Amino acid sequence: MAQVIGIDLGATNACVAVMKDRTPAVIANAEGYSITPCVVAYGRNGDRLVGQIAKRQALMNPDNTFHSVKRFIGRKYDEVIDAAEQVSYQVLPDSNGGVKLNCPILDQEFTPEEITAQILRKLADTANKYLGEEVTQVVLTVPPYFNDSQRQATKDAGKLAGLEVLRIINQPTAACLVYELERRSNETILVFDLGGSTLDVTILDVGDGVFEVLATSSEPYLGGNDFDKKIVDWLAAEFQRIEGIDLRNDKQALQRLTEAAEKAKIELSSVTQAEINLPFITATQDGPKHIDTTLTVTQFEKMCSELIERCRIQIENAIRDARIDKSAIDEVVLVGGSTRIPAVKEFVRSLTGKEPYQSINPDEVGSVGAAIQASVLGDGWTSFCCVSWDYTYLSLGIETLDGAMTTMIPRHSIIPTKKSEIFSTATDGQTSIEIHVLQGERLFAKDNKSLGTLRLNGIFPAPKGVPQIEVTFEIDANGILTVSAKDIATEQERSLTINSLFVEQKELEQMLKDAEKYYQEDIKLSEPIEARKMAASLVVQTERQLTELGKKASEADKIWIEELLKNLRETIAKPDSANDSLAVLALGGKLLSNKTQPVLMQMGSPIYALTGAPKTGN
Ligand code: AMP
Repeated sequence: MAQVIGIDLGATNACVAVMKDRTPAVIANAEGYSITPCVVAYGRNGDRLVGQIAKRQALMNPDNTFHSVKRFIGRKYDEVIDAAEQVSYQVLPDSNGGVKLNCPILDQEFTPEEITAQILRKLADTANKYLGEEVTQVVLTVPPYFNDSQRQATKDAGKLAGLEVLRIINQPTAACLVYELERRSNETILVFDLGGSTLDVTILDVGDGVFEVLATSSEPYLGGNDFDKKIVDWLAAEFQRIEGIDLRNDKQALQRLTEAAEKAKIELSSVTQAEINLPFITATQDGPKHIDTTLTVTQFEKMCSELIERCRIQIENAIRDARIDKSAIDEVVLVGGSTRIPAVKEFVRSLTGKEPYQSINPDEVGSVGAAIQASVLGDGWTSFCCVSWDYTYLSLGIETLDGAMTTMIPRHSIIPTKKSEIFSTATDGQTSIEIHVLQGERLFAKDNKSLGTLRLNGIFPAPKGVPQIEVTFEIDANGILTVSAKDIATEQERSLTINSLFVEQKELEQMLKDAEKYYQEDIKLSEPIEARKMAASLVVQTERQLTELGKKASEADKIWIEELLKNLRETIAKPDSANDSLAVLALGGKLLSNKTQPVLMQMGSPIYALTGAPKTGN
């Protein structure tokens, strides 16, 4: 079986890994680096550059060099107007309100998916060479806050690159997979991910192969690039003070300053001072000018203190939103190249009070996590405890009689999952049903999120409760929900696919808060409905059994069962089925159940258990 690879697709860099003999292997690209810059550029002759080589010419060819494209993937133009101003190339709206990227040198426009596909293709080619075989399947990582449209667009990019995306996993989940592979324990983990351009702080509960995201807090414009820029500004200001020339206005000089700044920053992660030598950075009438200076860790930390302080807000937000005390965090896992900066590490350590877990390489952890997931999906490796990776954040169900929500898949069900139940009609001769698909924890449909409706026509006309409609909810590994309804008698079937189970963190929190707040109120309102539902179900069952098997019952038994049924039917039909009728319904249902059961049993058929009985559905 061909290998499935894992790719960590960051905003700044990407990394590819594969499991070899149950051990993760990070694959170096053709240039010999394990990380590949997510940069694609088009040169004068239409030649395409991807990765390090594209990054190197970025400042010289800004209009045709596409970086940070992840900010635009799967987004509407209106949502990214601010982000568009931060990049060097032109971002335009397309005719559907989406985003396209202008490439003047080719006189062509690209979608963010097309550019992302070029990066994925390069990484897949890297893997092909390493493995000596064609790779066709991949697991990709995305940030936890990516919505469905961003996830779908990322998958589309994979497809454009000729890859089948088997699964999309959240970046902090990927980090925890690696952590759990090494440690295998039930813990609350804070993942601090500071990459090239974004900061994501995620708090997860990890255990038994399930990763529950308790909270996530992000700053989309804070990362290694900002640390580089501080050094560039310092170098440029010093040069301007001495020479009177602002190098930031000279594209070529700025490119060299930026490269030198990043190099110095990286050096300062392991030494106390870095030499910066930039000969011939510019020339004046007096001749060529050079930069030859030293940057110490103390200077660097001072100039970047404001950036480090900004990390505090996201950590504190995440802890607050997770509704935990700082002391409840068992482990801190660092992800992203910028967490190699000692001052960042120290800051996280002092703020959380925890020594960060060091044994995971922060640049590679995402791809290794994706590779572990790929291995489980690809060759079914399950000796590692984590075989289930995701679960439903909210319950899923349908609207049934009286506007109640009947849950099909409860909250926190591990996916993929499938559940079927039989429903029936609410009125005599009803030939169609409408299935209203809902998401949420409230007991009534109107208070939950509506995901869509599905209509099944052509049901054979029959008394209410007789048609059997099998409703199936199936969530695949990618979180895509398919709801199908099948009339068992006619075999007519219709289905509906819902791609958007994703709920924004804030909305999710609000929905859960409301469910808690209104629980008692909802229960009060739902009690009579539940009683009506149960009584109605019992009536339908008893009627059916009387017709089918009534010959075996004595006339006297039949008369009192029919009398009970009549009374119960009348009570059910009362529109104000509140308190009084609730008692009647409960009593009637109980009587019917107690008294009829032995009789119906005698008739040779066990009475249906209420829970498994066909329910009345609209
Ligand atoms: P990532 O997006 O996780 O690949 O992180 C990329 C960022 O990490 C870039 O800004 C790099 O300059 C930065 N980075 C990588 N290695 C180091 C290091 N040793 N020290 C400081 N920053 C680093």
